[in-house]
Amino acid sequence: MRCPNCGSLDDKVLESRTMVNGESIRRRRECIACGYRFTSYERIDEKPFMVIKRDGRRQPFDSQKLSKGIERALEKRPVSTNMVEQITNDIEDQAIKISKEAREISTSDLGELVLEMLYEVDKVAYIRFASVYRHFEDLDEFITEVRNIEKRGKK
Ligand SMILES: [Zn+2]
Repeated sequence: MRCPNCGSLDDKVLESRTMVNGESIRRRRECIACGYRFTSYERIDEKPFMVIKRDGRRQPFDSQKLSKGIERALEKRPVSTNMVEQITNDIEDQAIKISKEAREISTSDLGELVLEMLYEVDKVAYIRFASVYRHFEDLDEFITEVRNIEKRGKK
């Protein structure tokens, strides 16, 4: 994309994110020649990315909803707001990649992606999210999950 500052065509994308309406992508770009940063918007012509709910209904992927869930799990944890955004973007990217041509993902697959990501970032957040998401039946189940984490952590 042509740099508005120096006209060079060489740039790198710093950040991409799908807009809430699901119809355009906003990219932060940096000109490799002069370092100028600018934003581009691209319309998506392909079908929107959808989430298949447990009852089989489909709804457009909502990255704000996802980031709220992640934020809640990370509340009072030593993780920046920036990081929440980064995690949300990473999960969305992965979800889209996994879905391939179908461009849809089940809520359970999406939930597993979130768990994987939170597991890497913060174990407490992982447990919080898992306890809501997986609806642990009882305390034993919860403790088993905590032990599993401890075991994995020792590897
Ligand atoms: Zn430039």
